[in-house]
Amino acid sequence: MIVVMELAARAEQIGAVQQKLVQAGYVMQAVKGARGLIIGAAGKGGIDHQALAAMPGVDRVVPVRQPYKLVSRDLGGETSLVKVKDLVIGGRDLTVIAGPCAVESWEQLLDTAQQVSRAGAVVLRGGAFKPRSSPYSFQGLEVKGLELLAAVGALTGLLTITEVVDEASLELALTYVDLVQIGSRNMQNFRLLQAVGRSGKPVLLKRGFAATVEEWLLAAEYIVASGNENVVLCERGIRTFEIATRNTLDLSAVALVKKRSHLPVMVDPSHATGDRDLVGPMARAAVAAGADGLIVEVHPDPGRALCDGAQSLTPEAFVALMQELQPVAAAVGRAVGGGGAL
Ligand code: PEP
Ligand code: MN
Repeated sequence: MIVVMELAARAEQIGAVQQKLVQAGYVMQAVKGARGLIIGAAGKGGIDHQALAAMPGVDRVVPVRQPYKLVSRDLGGETSLVKVKDLVIGGRDLTVIAGPCAVESWEQLLDTAQQVSRAGAVVLRGGAFKPRSSPYSFQGLEVKGLELLAAVGALTGLLTITEVVDEASLELALTYVDLVQIGSRNMQNFRLLQAVGRSGKPVLLKRGFAATVEEWLLAAEYIVASGNENVVLCERGIRTFEIATRNTLDLSAVALVKKRSHLPVMVDPSHATGDRDLVGPMARAAVAAGADGLIVEVHPDPGRALCDGAQSLTPEAFVALMQELQPVAAAVGRAVGGGGAL
């Protein structure tokens, strides 16, 4: 269940509700956010919801059958808005994040940033800590990469996002970027999820490539339960028997997650397909399916990219994609803009 406390609930009233839940054998997580204090509680049941709802300071009690509570849509209402400086993710405008898989150099990053910004992207992506399948592959520029991201972000006015792979990289990234990304391989790194939760930093939570939708939403629950409501989900394809594409883009998960959770959902058509020719069609399909935004890999010279060149768009192809998205967005009542309009 979820217990929504009144905005004016006093500390002793909150304490009394929590004590009641503990006595009834519930385990709970409380989060204070835009909607006031919300307590998610999981247990075997046996508590009288009406009596709980009648306690002083309680606004309402909402039964939630799902194992995740705080991220569930059972509370009703619109998709949550995640605000990053002036950007609003989850509103009418779609948010487009673009940039190279990995930060490689000042020239590479600045060139990409200027071109994607002109085309309408509002957040610059770039990996500084790359979780590569092979230890012999390029691992990222680490702190140097973060410095380049921050400098190029400041110069172009783009917000910035980078992947964090452990608590040490999170600590470093916090001072340099506007959003952090939890990658597919770390979706169930629960200590990292909790650390990102404590940091309060807006976070893009990729779906694990072998994670069910329920596991994905429970990963988001870890972050919110640790005190951070600023979570954006990202479907990036899952591993199936089909190896003709890098992953299988599960677009039904986008529609399902919008139904199950109030969190905004984005799609990564680059890692989902592994093939730049498929990025446009899947990006359009994602927007049609109700995604709140896209994260797309763009490189000025994909043939020479140190990471994921085959799935990276050229800046020119990215400009074309942004134009192609417009009628699709309009058809579903959205706009491809900078974010901001509710
Ligand atoms: C990435 O975005 O660079 C990345 C590694 O993605 P994923 O975690 O989805 O594989
Ligand atoms: Mn990549």
